[in-house]
Amino acid sequence: MIKDALLKDMLDSVSEGVYFVDLERRITYWNRSAERISGYREDEVVGSRCSDNLLRHVDESGRELCGELCPLVAVMQGQTDIRAEVFLHHKDGHRVPVTVKALPFYDESNVLRGAIEVFTDRSERLAVLAELQELRKENLTDALTGLGNRRYGDIRLDSLVEDLTRGGGGFGLLMIDIDHFKAVNDTYGHATGDRVLRMAAWSLANAVRRGDVAARWGGEEFVVLAPGADVAALAEIAERARAMEERSWLTLEDGREVRVTVSVGGAVARAGEPPAEVAARADRLLYRCKEAGRNRVMVE
Ligand code: GH3
Ligand code: MG
Ligand code: MG
Repeated sequence: MIKDALLKDMLDSVSEGVYFVDLERRITYWNRSAERISGYREDEVVGSRCSDNLLRHVDESGRELCGELCPLVAVMQGQTDIRAEVFLHHKDGHRVPVTVKALPFYDESNVLRGAIEVFTDRSERLAVLAELQELRKENLTDALTGLGNRRYGDIRLDSLVEDLTRGGGGFGLLMIDIDHFKAVNDTYGHATGDRVLRMAAWSLANAVRRGDVAARWGGEEFVVLAPGADVAALAEIAERARAMEERSWLTLEDGREVRVTVSVGGAVARAGEPPAEVAARADRLLYRCKEAGRNRVMVE
């Protein structure tokens, strides 16, 4: 689709991901930033359809857009100026929040040839990584996932409780535990288990809001601290995290796909409550999620 080398160079230098699809939604062009944001190289995606288990955009609730809700289809059918906040599937398995713009693509004779998608990374990954860089110096990051570690989670939890005691705003806490994770290790081996843990960690980090904390609490368990969250806000974060984990998957070298789900218990801190008690309440709800069948959320 792009024969002009100058145009190709130009598109490779922009910070937005840009790709073109033909009328069958087959990818015909994939720029450098698209590679950086998604992890997929140009030669891995050009020629395939974007619905071929590659990007598989979902909305905030985890609903797949590849069918009727696809922005590329909409602009090819005559809608103009489509903008959507979606989550794409990264090659490493996790979900990445992106803002997507779709435009129809016409040739010189004004014949519709396909569509163009321009997408930007909303994950504030750079800001997050800069913060983690700082934490690393203090031994507050987890070596496997790169998220904050248990000690970091504890420090932030203590200070949020202290704020609340002094009359400051409250916060919510989520305990997230991967379902049947032992079976992943048993089936695919420990190294793949580690990759799944990294995937789950980054889908979680990308599902929380700016200012929230996501840290690795233990083996296959994570904690989220959400300053200012009431029960409704906390339930929303919990459900988004659950949905994003469910829509993440890792493709192994032999083509097998590995997926996990998570159970999430959450509690909004009460005035005067010690840190361990907020965590214990969330844990109890997490346990109830497990009993009720897993892959679910309970928040109080
Ligand atoms: P449940 O749904 O009840 O949570 O079941 P589960 O299998 O996830 O829970 P269980 O506590 O029985 O097993 C957790 C497993 O997580 C066991 C442990 O080997 C594994 N695990 C913990 N840390 C790591 C790690 O860093 N890497 C890998 N690969 N596995 C880990
Ligand atoms: Mg566990
Ligand atoms: Mg588990």
